[in-house]
Amino acid sequence: MFNETRALLERLNHSPSRKLGQNFLIDANIVRKSIEMAEVRANDSIVEIGPGLGVLTQALLETGASVWAVERDHTLAEHIKENLLPDHPHLHLIEGDCLEHPRARLPENHARTGYKVVANLPYAVATPWMDAVLSGPLPQRMVLMLQKEAADRYCASHGSKALGAISILLQSAYMLRNRHLVSARCFYPVPKVDSVLLGLELRKNPVRFTTQASDLIRRIFTQRRKQLGVLCKSDPNPKAYEWFEQLVASDVKPTIRPEELPIVLWQSLARIS
Ligand code: SAM
Repeated sequence: MFNETRALLERLNHSPSRKLGQNFLIDANIVRKSIEMAEVRANDSIVEIGPGLGVLTQALLETGASVWAVERDHTLAEHIKENLLPDHPHLHLIEGDCLEHPRARLPENHARTGYKVVANLPYAVATPWMDAVLSGPLPQRMVLMLQKEAADRYCASHGSKALGAISILLQSAYMLRNRHLVSARCFYPVPKVDSVLLGLELRKNPVRFTTQASDLIRRIFTQRRKQLGVLCKSDPNPKAYEWFEQLVASDVKPTIRPEELPIVLWQSLARIS
């Protein structure tokens, strides 16, 4: 697919934008693997972020699924409109920013009855996009191509330097099903970072955090080297210190640092206002 991709970009007179993370998939096996991992079925509702040249989009549509996609690049959005839309009535494309449309305007009834996300994400906006997804109707399954460093953060456990707010918010709602390191040679142009394909499945009883709780966790992790008790005491939300005192009463050591606290204990904070 290397030659086809280069030829297509030339025909479109388009140079891949680094700012928009345009590293296009050129490996058919990885496209197939993404679809297999998501267990895509005919009639599934799929959200795709950044369809780009449409390689993954086309493969998704060939399964009989319906696809809602959001693409920020005007040239690429036009390319999809001209080349994929006419033959695929189940494709819905918007030209726009995935941070404004994290579900690509998937209709509410589809969002409620269950949908999946399959995407080779633009790495620069992966985490704010994930934050937006986690605060709306949750997908049943997500198969995401991510920068390895982001995947490490999403999957981190307590005791790891990679543990952050996103690890807690994501793992409280999702189980990690699979994780594959993807060679940089599977993309054109070749990215400077390592990539990982991550498969996530919604838990039976996902724990969701109030805005106040997720904001508090984010504030705490901006000062991750300090002791959790010190951070909770000085936090503007008075519930923070109450929560911390309950932790200490249940045997958590008073000098604990944020990254040492197991995710399950963070979940006792989920419903605070
Ligand atoms: N899906 C294609 C593939 O796998 O070859 C392209 C993936 S490429 C890594 C990321 C895509 O996301 C690009 O098409 C880029 O233009 C688009 N993009 C970047 N930032 C975006 C944003 N904020 N909202 C929507 N699309 C974005």
